[in-house]
Amino acid sequence: MMKRKGFTLVEILFVVVIVGILVAILVPNALKAVAAANTKACAGNIRSIDAAFVACYADTRDWASCDDIAALVTGGYLEDTPVCPIGVDYAADSTNGRRCARTGHFSAGNFPHTHDAVVVE
Ligand SMILES: [Zn+2]
Repeated sequence: MMKRKGFTLVEILFVVVIVGILVAILVPNALKAVAAANTKACAGNIRSIDAAFVACYADTRDWASCDDIAALVTGGYLEDTPVCPIGVDYAADSTNGRRCARTGHFSAGNFPHTHDAVVVE
């Protein structure tokens, strides 16, 4: 009797089911890891901007010279304009001296743990 080469339909279905289960487990965890990494990167950017504002003020003793993020880059306090990995631009908050505004990033007051959701338009 000749032995047939190849897999049976049941064997192929079994492998497909196993791969499907693995993907169902791994993809949500990978997406959570990406979101956590983006949140940490944004929090790090905000801390860098805050520190640059303080350094600028320490040098100039004048908040007008440290008015916005572009002034920090021009003054050499930031190497480059930070980019939020979520895609929201950073802005200066001038309510008490200067710092990076949390609005659009951590507006619920949960800095640095939970970045605001991205609004898809
Ligand atoms: Zn952000």
